[in-house]
Amino acid sequence: MAENDIQNVCSFCGLPGDDGRRLIEGDNCFICETCIGVCYQMLDLQNENFANDEYDVEMDFTFSPHEIYDKLSEYVVGQDYAKKVLSVAVYNHYKRVQNNLYNDKDVDIEKSNILLIGSTGSGKTLLAKTLAKILNVPFAIADATSLTQAGYVGEDVENVLLRLLQAADYDVDLAQKGIIYIDEIDKLGRKGDNVSITRDVSGEGVQQALLKILEGTVANVPPGGGRKHPHQEFIPIDTTNILFICGGSFEGLVDVVKARLGNKVIGFSSKADMKFTDEELYSKVNHDDVQKFGMIPELVGRLPVIAPLTPLNVEELVRILREPKNAIIKQYEKMFAMDNVSLEFEKQAVEAIAKIAYNKKTGARGLRAIIENIMLEIMFTIPDEKDLKKCIITKDVVEKKDKPKIIKEEKTA
Ligand code: ADP
Repeated sequence: MAENDIQNVCSFCGLPGDDGRRLIEGDNCFICETCIGVCYQMLDLQNENFANDEYDVEMDFTFSPHEIYDKLSEYVVGQDYAKKVLSVAVYNHYKRVQNNLYNDKDVDIEKSNILLIGSTGSGKTLLAKTLAKILNVPFAIADATSLTQAGYVGEDVENVLLRLLQAADYDVDLAQKGIIYIDEIDKLGRKGDNVSITRDVSGEGVQQALLKILEGTVANVPPGGGRKHPHQEFIPIDTTNILFICGGSFEGLVDVVKARLGNKVIGFSSKADMKFTDEELYSKVNHDDVQKFGMIPELVGRLPVIAPLTPLNVEELVRILREPKNAIIKQYEKMFAMDNVSLEFEKQAVEAIAKIAYNKKTGARGLRAIIENIMLEIMFTIPDEKDLKKCIITKDVVEKKDKPKIIKEEKTA
């Protein structure tokens, strides 16, 4: 090989040192950063095997369910029932992890993976993400529908683990205690109760693949993702202690609950289902309902904790705009403050924004887009305005009937 060739190629994987891939030179050889990562993992894993069993990464699992609930409430508005269920489930999960109970040969401890049921934009992803933040563990999101489309299920499911590993900066031990949120889990379901007629083959394939990692298995994760890599070493990840939170809107599930509750009282009152609000119906969802909705029993069985969320009402949307630590209005106020302008949203204006979002039926998801649309013109002109002191957003501004009220600094002569 010519000297030039040697200089540009990793001696381990044979890949060239271009595209930002850095090479480190040894005595007549080179190694690229990807291969260094792989070697590091291999050595680290070996060390870990020799290490004291009590080795632990510094994570804060000392919160009580009440503290977890309070912390969640700093970011998540409403959804009290779901927050309580989650706080208890997460507290129990990490207690078992810390005491190594999932590996206990004598006691059969069930893993507390969680199923979040709630309409779009009601805070499912936010809850999962916030939990990871509170506990200071790595977090990854996957979309169950993209797993279906990929076809080769096994590989993709492992890529979810790779994302978690990346979030943990390739620290395997840390990743093994992380949280994975799998969205749109309901889209894997098959409609109806009759397996043989309405069977969704691809959806069920993914469900089967998920079963293993949900329950706890050692999966071999390619450090470079799907990309081919000569001499590739896989990183084994044990999913036993990973907390899986699955979420879905499960549209139509309320009808399943209604039918169940209605059936019970048939003969007494045909208006049985009228007794319950949607909120109450959501809180009564059980595993049988979810199974009836179309998820395979094995998957339902691996999600023992059900946390139902309720659709957000206008009042909650108003609170979301104003209250959480990272509330959208707080963010805008801060941005204006940087230009020494005080920004004020009138009460009726905030309500009007919430109502628009409510009518769109996209939960809190639509709030930012609505505000951005209102604020675009103002954000465009504000930095050029001279002596501006205050900017007031009224209901008419939200409804595009007027411009914001502007108050200027009084000039002293
Ligand atoms: P989904 O239920 O579809 O997963 P997300 O959690 O992704 O919804 O929420 C979409 C957006 O709305 C996020 O920006 C999130 O911060 C906000 N949001 C949704 N629900 C709430 C809530 N209950 N409290 C505060 N913010 C929320």
